[in-house]
Amino acid sequence: MPATRARLLMMNAALGPLDYRVPDELAIEHGSVVIAPLGPRQVMGIVWEAEHLPTDPVPEAKLRPLLGVVDVPPIRPELRRLIEWTADYYVAPMASVARMVIASGGALRGPATMTEYRLSGGMPERMTAQRERAIAALEGEQATIRELAGLAGVSEGVLRGLVNQGVLEPVAVDVDRPFPQARHDHHLPDLSADQRAVADRLAGAVEGRGFAPFLLDGVTGSGKTETYFEAVGAALKAGRQVLVLLPEIALTEAFLSRFEERFGAAPVVWHSSLRSTQRRRAWRAIADGGAQVVVGARSALFLPYRSLGLIVVDEAHEISFKQDDGVRYNARDVAVMRAHFERIPVVLASATPALESLHMADTGTYEKLVLPSRFGGATLPDVRLVDLTEEKPGRGAWIAPPLVRELEARLERGEQSLLFLNRRGYAPLTLCRNCGFRFQCPNCSAWLVEHRLSRRLACHHCGHETQPPATCPECGEPDCLVACGPGVERIADEVAELLPDARVAVVTSDTINSPEKAAQFVAMAEGGAIDVIVGTQLVTKGFHFPELTLVGVIDADLGLEGGDLRAAERTYQQVAQVAGRAGRGEKPGEVLIQTRHPEAPVIAALAAGDRDAFYEAETENRRHAGAPPFGRWAAIIVSSEDEAEAREAANRIGATRPFLPDVEVLGPAPAPLALLRNRYRYRLLLNARRSAELQRVIRDWLGALTFPQGVRVGVDIDPYSF
Ligand code: ADP
Ligand code: ZN
Repeated sequence: MPATRARLLMMNAALGPLDYRVPDELAIEHGSVVIAPLGPRQVMGIVWEAEHLPTDPVPEAKLRPLLGVVDVPPIRPELRRLIEWTADYYVAPMASVARMVIASGGALRGPATMTEYRLSGGMPERMTAQRERAIAALEGEQATIRELAGLAGVSEGVLRGLVNQGVLEPVAVDVDRPFPQARHDHHLPDLSADQRAVADRLAGAVEGRGFAPFLLDGVTGSGKTETYFEAVGAALKAGRQVLVLLPEIALTEAFLSRFEERFGAAPVVWHSSLRSTQRRRAWRAIADGGAQVVVGARSALFLPYRSLGLIVVDEAHEISFKQDDGVRYNARDVAVMRAHFERIPVVLASATPALESLHMADTGTYEKLVLPSRFGGATLPDVRLVDLTEEKPGRGAWIAPPLVRELEARLERGEQSLLFLNRRGYAPLTLCRNCGFRFQCPNCSAWLVEHRLSRRLACHHCGHETQPPATCPECGEPDCLVACGPGVERIADEVAELLPDARVAVVTSDTINSPEKAAQFVAMAEGGAIDVIVGTQLVTKGFHFPELTLVGVIDADLGLEGGDLRAAERTYQQVAQVAGRAGRGEKPGEVLIQTRHPEAPVIAALAAGDRDAFYEAETENRRHAGAPPFGRWAAIIVSSEDEAEAREAANRIGATRPFLPDVEVLGPAPAPLALLRNRYRYRLLLNARRSAELQRVIRDWLGALTFPQGVRVGVDIDPYSF
């Protein structure tokens, strides 16, 4: 490229690409991360190929000089192409995608040593309520002042005061200290013949290099993890990096120790709640190649690996791989694209693959590898339906007699049970029995959910919380509030009443909110200290408890309600996954599914253990509805704090809709969550033929319109729920 001029992708979505002059003393190349002047400010940008990033030409004389180059490896072309593809496919600004690569300016700039603080054990000369609160909250913590302030819920000023008094002491953290090195042959397992065949195919693909997408389709407990570990080993041996994406980062603890057993060192972890020093250390090691294996949440997909050799997406069907704000991307799909640009294998592992993934395998785009049976001869559990229209639970109860009997039998035999209900808290709705008042979130069109363990009413959409009042806020009547419907906490209460001797654990994102808590829970469950686990979808994944022989699904119909395009598939996946927790050891497992619709195709398929029947029926539904993988959906979401402004903007988009034979536009209509975080939301839905240039249509359409400042217009390609 001409050395005197550089085109930058700016790290600010409000800015288009800008050209700068390159001073002689600066050595830059495509992908260099640089600092540029913008008015009086300094901003970050990435040097881009001008032909990939068109903009209006700027006369030579008006160019301002770049200020410097950030001391990190240049962003490689493979990743630059991924940024372009992601922005293009998801109709998002390139800058927003690139910011996920940079992860936060803090990951790049600054010294190699950072200072964190921890309690020294000393006490302040003068104790205040705030200081007391801070000291209690920071027990065992070590982080920067800003992070500690967030943890303790006090101002940074309060903590600075504690530093001055020696109550908090500084600790120097070297963000460039190396991670322990993994060895590909630390502990080699004996694989079954099925596993060996799959492992060899995967390892061969890693050694052969080149793009190779795999669907690893194996029943729960078949050893999918064990098998893809062989591919990880092959990459380690070749000196290349590996990315393993997991859906639920809180549960990685078990995975990390398993990994460490196999490879002799724990992998590098990446997720959104890393502390800033951890984030910088991981980012830099990923960029310079010191991080050999990264286990992360979806955002790890955009990191600047020096030499990626393999990507694994475990539990690839999980909906948490779909990001629902900012850049609305699906990590499963982006993983395949990243592998494509990097020319490496990618493995999508699941016992219940997404219909789209199966379709890709069946049409030959992905290579399907199958593990048909559980490892070590463990059998899949028996599944039985409990028809709630006939077997009725007692008043104010949700566990029907057949499930009660099985629970009792397990407790007697000293075996474990798991009850699944995908609803956090105690009750989804609280109302006044005197006047009918219902507790609603002030910021969202949603009911407040009672959480009895933490004594609060909470909105699951915006995080708003209040204490449950003693009297009705509407009519003032005391003791008149009633809980409607069950959440896991209420089911746990019911179990405690039915089986007073049982030790019951509630497992949700409220109770298992850190890797430490997850590890504690796993240790207790494995050690036989828990008789009945009551949990949300958190318990459907990953756990392997040999003594667990009974799984009860409290309400299999729950997920089938509501306007969700993939409701049936989701229900199938959740129930099949949770059923897969039963009978993983030597004792056979049993699954009871409570339902009011035993005849519904998805429920019948679950009862019959007939996965193919379900997928065939669902495939026909999708084909009929023009839904993925046969047609495409997109949503345009318009929001504003001002309801009229949102409505007008949505109407204007609706009025300028293009009339095309292969794209149908529905709406605008109020979005399912018509008010979310104080913003009124309207929505248009697009249903398109497979062949339609959906993204280009949307870009041209929206690009021709301008909106008032307060209006946000977001595009969701392949939305999960409407
Ligand atoms: P999946 O990922 O398919 O659910 P896992 O890889 O977690 O299955 O395996 C299920 C259980 O069986 C785990 O406890 C695992 O350690 C064990 N296992 C699987 N394959 C082997 C093997 N070849 N040797 C020893 N244990 C195995
Ligand atoms: Zn809310």
